[in-house]
Amino acid sequence: MTDAPSYGFDTLQIHAGARPDPATGARQTPIYQTTSYVFRDADHAAALFNLQEVGFIYSRLTNPTVAVLQERLATLEGGVGAVCCSSGHAAQIMALFPLMAPGCNVVASTRLYGGTVTQFSQTIKRFGWSAKFVDTDDLDAVRDAIDENTRAVFCESIANPGGYVTDIRAMADVADAAGVPLIVDNTTATPYLCNPIAQGATLVVHSTTKYLTGNGTVTGGVVIDSGNFDWSASDKFPSLSAPEPAYHGLKFHETFGSLAFTFHGIAIGLRDLGMTMNPQAAHYTLMGIETLSLRMQRHCENAMKVASWLEQDERVDYVTYAGLPSSPYYERAQACYPKGTGGLFTFAVKGGYEACIKLVDALEIFSHVANLGDTRSLIIHSASTTHRQLTPEQQEAAGAGPNVVRISIGIEDADDLIADLDQALTKACG
Ligand SMILES: *Cc1c(COP(=O)(O)O)cnc(C)c1O
Repeated sequence: MTDAPSYGFDTLQIHAGARPDPATGARQTPIYQTTSYVFRDADHAAALFNLQEVGFIYSRLTNPTVAVLQERLATLEGGVGAVCCSSGHAAQIMALFPLMAPGCNVVASTRLYGGTVTQFSQTIKRFGWSAKFVDTDDLDAVRDAIDENTRAVFCESIANPGGYVTDIRAMADVADAAGVPLIVDNTTATPYLCNPIAQGATLVVHSTTKYLTGNGTVTGGVVIDSGNFDWSASDKFPSLSAPEPAYHGLKFHETFGSLAFTFHGIAIGLRDLGMTMNPQAAHYTLMGIETLSLRMQRHCENAMKVASWLEQDERVDYVTYAGLPSSPYYERAQACYPKGTGGLFTFAVKGGYEACIKLVDALEIFSHVANLGDTRSLIIHSASTTHRQLTPEQQEAAGAGPNVVRISIGIEDADDLIADLDQALTKACG
């Protein structure tokens, strides 16, 4: 299928990037389980290695199954190109890699997936990079945090774990004014509920492990480029604007224009960091994406029902779901996320840490796992697991205090989920 922007989301989630296999006519995208590709002749090989011709060389760089997924995700997000990676965390490093250098920083939201807080506050220091965390509801604080060494602003659309919703347009305006790209982790919203690029984001990253695959089978990630950022407007992004010694002085931005970031991600990022998605993973994720809109609708519907029930239960202190009229984020959610605010939120149990532990153990339908965005309902006590490495202050800032559990509402019968929570709360608080 040629990518006609006139097609609707439901059509694109099935067809974008895919076409009948040219060799066999296979209707479903084959899993090209191969590491290498025969060159037509020596000239063809040389042209590929010089980036003069686009084609398949070696599966650390590109693979036809992965390429279909890349095209589909770029289309769904409204970007010009995408690079798939081995995990969501790999995608975050791959997004920052062309932008950062030793001494540079990223200004990041305090409300991020716990693993991202750890990656940004600890691990990236080994590269000489750093992160400055700010409350992204305070735009002045974001503005103030950006300094001459800032190379990106990073936030989540619907922030894990609380399900807080970010005003991406407002964040993009701040980043724009400072001449740095806005990177949005759109994992928990998915392109069905939110298109960060349409609201001014430069780059979108996903953990495809979650809703995009949707069935808890494979880890994966992706970086999608809007193609809208002028990498040559300042001298801040030499990896993209200045001569690249590894390619005989080629300048990515000058040569590839709006595809500079994507080409760099493959030709330098995947080539040298090797955080490649394998074709099996791409296959599972392609299968998942075919039903993304249907699942997201049900996730949102179910989450609304469960959150409303929890909110009126006397054993529950508060519920953070932004779809609830009582949420401080309700107005913003209605304005920025009109199709719904996803299936992820937290609630606080009056019995505190001990009750949370008992609750998690007493549930029967909900699985106690460190994952989200599955068809199955999932629960985790963040403070004792995903956010365990954080300080108490960081836990609170991330909305993952000791009395808080995070749930990822699946697509089962909402009544069954409510009954399960009811019996488990009785055991936990009784
Ligand atoms: C899971 C997750 C990640 C990390 O992705 P992995 O695939 O587990 O590496 C990043 N951001 C968010 C919002 C996530 O939920």
